[in-house]
Amino acid sequence: MSTRGNLFIVSAPSGAGKSSLISALLKDKPADKQVSVSHTTRKPRPGEENGVHYHFVSVDEFKALIEQDAFFEWAEVFGNFYGTSRLTVQETLERGIDVFLDIDWQGAQQVKKLMPEAMGIFILPPSREELERRLIGRGQDSDEVIASRMAQAVSEMSHYSEYEYVIVNDNFDEALADLQAIIRAGRLTCAGQARTHGDMLKGLLAD
Ligand code: GDP
Ligand code: ADP
Ligand code: 5GP
Repeated sequence: MSTRGNLFIVSAPSGAGKSSLISALLKDKPADKQVSVSHTTRKPRPGEENGVHYHFVSVDEFKALIEQDAFFEWAEVFGNFYGTSRLTVQETLERGIDVFLDIDWQGAQQVKKLMPEAMGIFILPPSREELERRLIGRGQDSDEVIASRMAQAVSEMSHYSEYEYVIVNDNFDEALADLQAIIRAGRLTCAGQARTHGDMLKGLLAD
């Protein structure tokens, strides 16, 4: 019987394709995988829905949540606060569902400290030029925001070696297949199988 899910951390410089890859992964609403919906003080982009893409909150609300220890991790990214709900992640993992955290490298470091078994996946664009093309092509951020995200991309990408897995998102379908392969392999590690099949292993190994 499935007892606990696996935790996957996905990080990338903005525009590398993290959200697109995660939404493609969850397109058919698989029962065994969920993305964690973060809280943010960033303003919603066109088309973003409260509770679906993020829980959009004010700075005061965010600070109150920090005081209540409601966050598994939180960080300031590009001048806004972002945080992951502790309770939601815990409850989802307890139900045996794999959880995907779309978080930055600061959050990833905090999660790895709290839960070393979490598996980190870093997504890289094929080049700086392509990253900028994607940020512009997405058409959702102002020129100023794009310039600031490009300026931060190099320092963010320098953290790639802190992750267990790296995906180069050049061809989208190949990158998606890589992501699926990582998830499958991550579930099949000795520790992953022990989490998923704890009861079965007890039965097999009982005296
Ligand atoms: P984030 O904002 O940093 O989280 O990045 P996203 O995950 O939102 O998106 C990366 C880019 O991949 C976006 O510009 C998507 O529009 C793009 N993309 C999404 N699906 C596809 C696809 O099927 N094919 C191609 N070529 N690009 C895609
Ligand atoms: P992130 O979530 O990492 O900021 P997005 O998923 O929003 O990135 O992607 C940024 C833009 O790049 C989107 O417009 C998306 O459609 C596009 N994109 C993502 N992956 C690819 C790819 N492999 N080839 C071309 N465009 C891509
Ligand atoms: P965006 O504004 O493009 O949606 O996200 C900007 C950055 O914030 C991305 O690097 C994303 O991974 C990060 N981010 C989103 N949610 C969280 C979160 O809950 N915690 C942390 N630490 N970073 C987050």
